[in-house]
Amino acid sequence: MAQRLIVIGGDAAGMSTASQARRRRGRDDLEIVAFERGHFTSYSACGIPYWISGLVSDPEQLISRSPETFRTEFDIDVRMRHEVTAIDLDRREVVAQDLEHGGEVRERFDELMYAAGALPTKPPWADTDAAGVFGMQTLDDGAALRDWLVRKPEPRRAVVIGGGYIGVEMAEALIERGLSVTLVEQAEQPMSTVDGDMAELVAEAMRGLGIKIRSGLPVTGLEQRDGRVSAVVTAEGPIPTDVVVLGLGVRPNTALAKAAGFPLGPTGGIRVDRRMRVPELSGVWAAGDCVETLHRVSGMPVHVPLGTHANKQGRVAGINIGGGYATFTGVIGTAVTKVCDLEVGRTGLRERDATAAGFDFVSVVAESTTRAGYYPGTQPMTVKLIAERPSGRLLGAQIVGWSEAAKRIDTLAVALWNGMTVDDMTQLDLGYAPPYSPVWDPVLIAARKAVDALAAVDR
Ligand SMILES: Cc1cc2nc3c(=O)[nH]c(=O)nc-3n(C[C@H](O)[C@H](O)[C@H](O)COP(=O)(O)OP(=O)(O)OC[C@H]3O[C@@H](n4cnc5c(N)ncnc54)[C@H](O)[C@@H]3O)c2cc1C
Repeated sequence: MAQRLIVIGGDAAGMSTASQARRRRGRDDLEIVAFERGHFTSYSACGIPYWISGLVSDPEQLISRSPETFRTEFDIDVRMRHEVTAIDLDRREVVAQDLEHGGEVRERFDELMYAAGALPTKPPWADTDAAGVFGMQTLDDGAALRDWLVRKPEPRRAVVIGGGYIGVEMAEALIERGLSVTLVEQAEQPMSTVDGDMAELVAEAMRGLGIKIRSGLPVTGLEQRDGRVSAVVTAEGPIPTDVVVLGLGVRPNTALAKAAGFPLGPTGGIRVDRRMRVPELSGVWAAGDCVETLHRVSGMPVHVPLGTHANKQGRVAGINIGGGYATFTGVIGTAVTKVCDLEVGRTGLRERDATAAGFDFVSVVAESTTRAGYYPGTQPMTVKLIAERPSGRLLGAQIVGWSEAAKRIDTLAVALWNGMTVDDMTQLDLGYAPPYSPVWDPVLIAARKAVDALAAVDR
């Protein structure tokens, strides 16, 4: 008799697992049933801001594989609009509610993949029945906001609450649509995924684009008029608005898993081993935004909810379920984003992470340009490096700059992944031609500066 794999969650991690397992095991050997409570499978939440801005015109472009494709090409029994409400590990079955037609189904499993993603943080003041308030987590959220933006009377003012990368990307999307945008952030600056000095460059550029930034300002409530949101309430008074987008971060969606007895780690994510198995629960796997992983530089468990990890982890689990061998060995915190033409990249530890992890370090900031100084289109670019003292090992890097600056972070990520010192990095054979870089690449300039800083401290 064929074994059964049940997948909970039909997006990046869940469907990567399902498709990898199917590639290795035919339907006579492994039946696969995937439950998804929403309307879409394998979609790019990462693309939502660009759909809101109008850069991407059709949400279909954000869907990489539809339920029908999974059914016909992968022989996966995809149950859309089905929410799993219980996992019984003793009986090895899940219970799911049919959200469209009502009723309950029970399905047995031999292998279980838990890939329920993350949930947006929603403080009590955001629990409102006022229309015009949107979280931004799923394609359904994006569709609801798109509808609102064209509904009469058309919103002219928007407030984005939260200045993480989703908040910043949504502020960009709304300003590109011609709304007047205010971004409210409780911390001193938006973009706290980089150090304060680098975040200030981002804030400055956002102001230059016409985005009003109100930082160091906690939100305490929302006001409404005639059932529509009308203002965001803060300690410094109300900010009138026609639409509110919440970008307050996410937490692992683990309620079901916790109730079933899955072990959770200190970050609140599900603990998994390097093959994506849930420890002590035979035949149970988890991947994506609901798990925690190892930070390879700090050695600490971290929750880094990114699509790049969800896809890789799902693939690893699928290979293992399919009878192969694969591991996910942790992250170094590499991420890129942009606000209009300003780009931001980061990898490894920020100064505060390095301090928390107990490292002694130096940090340097190097100003350079994206192309040779005389070459048309050259733009400023700032590179920050954090290096361990006295070893010189790279611990972290951040880039803020214009026009294709951010992807240079990948060079730094590779150096960091391989434990290079800043001294080694000064010798890197990086490509040079005037349209692509100054003769001294910004990465090399920063590495040289870090070597000098280490020498100065240890002199
Ligand atoms: C606006 C936005 C922009 C982003 N930009 C980037 C980016 O640029 N780069 C990047 O790397 N990452 C980005 N991300 C993050 C990325 O989208 C996520 O990390 C990724 O989608 C996580 O995949 P996942 O499969 O773990 O979870 P999800 O994509 O959240 O999928 C989980 C699925 O499980 C379903 N589900 C949950 N509970 C149940 C249940 N009980 N029963 C049935 N189904 C259930 C949910 O409906 C959901 O479809 C962005 C996210 C957002 C929201």
